[in-house]
Amino acid sequence: MKHALSVDVEDWFQVLNMRDAVARERWPDLPLRCVDATRRLLDVLARHEARATFFFLGWIAERAPELVADVARAGHEIGSHGYDHRVLGELGPEGFATDLERTESILRGITGSRPEVFRACTWSITGRTLWALPVLAGRGYRIDSSVFPVLHPEYGIRAAPAVPYRITTPSGTLAEFPPLTLRVLGRRLAVGGGGYLRLFPVRLLEAGLLQMERAGWPGCVYLHPWEVDPQQPRQRLGFLRGFRHYVNLHRTLPKLEVLLRRHAFTTLSEALAQSPSWTAKCAEFSWNGLSG
Ligand SMILES: [Zn+2]
Repeated sequence: MKHALSVDVEDWFQVLNMRDAVARERWPDLPLRCVDATRRLLDVLARHEARATFFFLGWIAERAPELVADVARAGHEIGSHGYDHRVLGELGPEGFATDLERTESILRGITGSRPEVFRACTWSITGRTLWALPVLAGRGYRIDSSVFPVLHPEYGIRAAPAVPYRITTPSGTLAEFPPLTLRVLGRRLAVGGGGYLRLFPVRLLEAGLLQMERAGWPGCVYLHPWEVDPQQPRQRLGFLRGFRHYVNLHRTLPKLEVLLRRHAFTTLSEALAQSPSWTAKCAEFSWNGLSG
């Protein structure tokens, strides 16, 4: 079983935890660090013959088109992470459509094709923003990976499935590929990437992968270029946000290497397509019934 690996290509100052520390107006003046960090990830993936889906912010793609081109040339999948990392509740349905269109046109200008996989800023498809699903299906997206099946103060739909499923909307059908979780003592733990990958032992993530394999599904692991950039400028974020952002940054790459040595990883599209009957065995939800 090949699992899915995904990289959300954004820079350290664009993370939601940074919103009070670095104003949006300052973004254009800050040096891009995610280009080198993403290239570091490309090298590691090439060494292990692994593929991944790279969800690009349009804002980054506009400033580093050669990076997008190189990622695509290396055989990875290019997805959209929206234009400038605004949560969907802030964009609203019309703002979201505009944001998608803008990012699509930037990515199409570089790679020649429009993205068909999407991940929202900070997992912001929640019970309050389910309207995003018909918008995505209507624009021709095939796969979304924005619904976190746990409840977190800032995101998540606890009732959502932890394995891939189909969502029907009035404008078409989407596959939803949730990030990896682990079921322990009847509760679901987020283990699939980001701060969870940096904080917990890698065995916990692997236990999640094994649980998925046993159930016949690929898992979806995620990380960000800023998580392999321990030299990034440090901000005062307060205890909780600072901990979430900075814990174990120096351990992300070694942990990723362990994962890549022990498991096979590919793009979200290929991970789903490896079981041709997946659409027959997966659960189907109506877009507005997802939050239960
Ligand atoms: Zn992001």
